[in-house]
Amino acid sequence: MGSLVRCSSCAAEAVIDQPYRGTHLCPAHFRESVDERVRREMHRQLPRFGGGTVAVALSGGKDSGVALALTHRYFRRRPTVRVVAISVDEGIQGYRAGTLRAAQALTTALGVEHTVVSARDAIGTTIDRAVADLPGTIPCSFCGVWRRQLLNRAARGVGADALVLGFNLDDLAQTVLMNLVHGDLDRLVRMAPHRVRQPGLVPRVAPLARVPEREVYLYARLKGIPFDHGECPHAGRAARNLFREMVWQLEEAQPGTRQSLLRTHDRLVTRFLADEAALVAPHRCRACGEPSTGDLCRACEYLEIARTPPLTPEAL
Ligand code: SF4
Ligand SMILES: [Zn+2]
Ligand SMILES: [Zn+2]
Repeated sequence: MGSLVRCSSCAAEAVIDQPYRGTHLCPAHFRESVDERVRREMHRQLPRFGGGTVAVALSGGKDSGVALALTHRYFRRRPTVRVVAISVDEGIQGYRAGTLRAAQALTTALGVEHTVVSARDAIGTTIDRAVADLPGTIPCSFCGVWRRQLLNRAARGVGADALVLGFNLDDLAQTVLMNLVHGDLDRLVRMAPHRVRQPGLVPRVAPLARVPEREVYLYARLKGIPFDHGECPHAGRAARNLFREMVWQLEEAQPGTRQSLLRTHDRLVTRFLADEAALVAPHRCRACGEPSTGDLCRACEYLEIARTPPLTPEAL
């Protein structure tokens, strides 16, 4: 952006453009606009939340750092609400240690209680080990499933009434598109934020749902929120990468695409798929007892595969 662009709300120099709204904002008005969008989302997704425990999934990256800082701020004058942070250490060398340090720095600065759950202790394996055992599979599929389950268990363990996730507008738009392309209605309905409370599953809240990824990054920088810039060594193999690229291209060509995808999802779920939400009420997994859509939850399915790696040609 040229240095002479002025803020759409005052005479100060703009630091960001918002093509989807046709605006440019200075640091003060930009921060205000993020605060307001997050406040509205929090209010919409957690209506009439009088008191209780709100857990925030904190990876140590920019999104969850901003989600924690703003959740803490949103509830700061409500003594009946306790905010706690939960991090999962999946066991990814050269990546997770740095993000956990950033998570620790943020929780210490905010004075928020912080729990770290280790995959090695909880499920007896790590992502690095599973990647080595299962060279043909995409690490993010089992990593995401295991992390979701560990977060849910830990959130339940601290008595949480809600679990805040740092999903931004780009993440959610990609997920909507992915589920539509795969024709996966069940996952489309089960996406956060959760409208239906299911037994054993702490409802997930996504207060950054209306904030694009680059705005989350700028907000974290302007506010001095500590976060780690590192990228997971397995990220290049994520199935999501294709959809990230597609959403990016669509947004470039047609600003506002991400918001349209989210609006479409909202309308589909609230108007047409409401009964479907009741249909996906989970069973209990026969192995671990966690909520599951089938007899065995996906976390345990992946664990079974990881413990019995497929035969290699040498072993035949
Ligand atoms: S990029 Fe994939 S493997 Fe790495 S932490 Fe994220 S989900 Fe896990
Ligand atoms: Zn301004
Ligand atoms: Zn299970």
